Amino acid sequence: MKNIIIAIDGFSSTGKSTIAKLLANKYRYMYVDSGAMYRAVTLYAKENNLVGNDFLKKKELISNLKNISLSFKSNIDLGFSEIYLNNKNVENQIRSLEISQLVSKVSAISEVRKKLVNEQQLMGLDKGVVMDGRDIGTVVFPGAELKLFMTASADKRASRRYKELIEKGDNVHFKDILFNVQERDKLDSTRKDSPLVKAKDAVEFDNSDMDIHEQFDKICDLVDHVISEKG
Ligand code: C5P
Repeated sequence: MKNIIIAIDGFSSTGKSTIAKLLANKYRYMYVDSGAMYRAVTLYAKENNLVGNDFLKKKELISNLKNISLSFKSNIDLGFSEIYLNNKNVENQIRSLEISQLVSKVSAISEVRKKLVNEQQLMGLDKGVVMDGRDIGTVVFPGAELKLFMTASADKRASRRYKELIEKGDNVHFKDILFNVQERDKLDSTRKDSPLVKAKDAVEFDNSDMDIHEQFDKICDLVDHVISEKG
């Protein structure tokens, strides 16, 4: 069976990573959460006092990029890989609301994007990859054999993210989560470098009212079709 690249882009909390993990598991592909990479750089910046709610030390962060090493290591119990920042597992820390509130500022910096896009492209050299993010089908893998673009209403997306954080024990309010998903979508879609846009050849999925099984079945049909055409 031929290996392909599956690029999944879309707005925050549209269930991209859930679908990507299911696909990676079914087709035995590598799953790469590109958002985790931007979040990890943001965590580094926050820990080193380079970004906060009302400041961004852009030049200093850029000159510190060489000190940031990111890697993914497989966690057999979870069934997917977790992200390491300078050899420390930061999978939980990067999911906080605080990091979500800072990440779009950091991800708008072209030098940050250049570093991460380069690392993402290396991970796709052998194909057999499912990668989710904002610019995967447009910038990272413009030649990806299958591109998906996920959308859902802001309310549905905020409810999903709120539930996830509450289940993890975080003390958050729904209105802050709703504000954050809307704000991030605005910043991600309007930034100069690699804004979030649907690639012309991407298949759009609005999953506001679609359950995960229905969505996954439809996407698997698409994957099977593409693999059989390319194979
Ligand atoms: O996917 P996730 O919501 O974890 O992504 C966090 C943030 O990382 C996004 O809001 C966006 O600012 C940035 N991002 C990006 N390009 C990607 C993936 C994520 O700019 N390919």
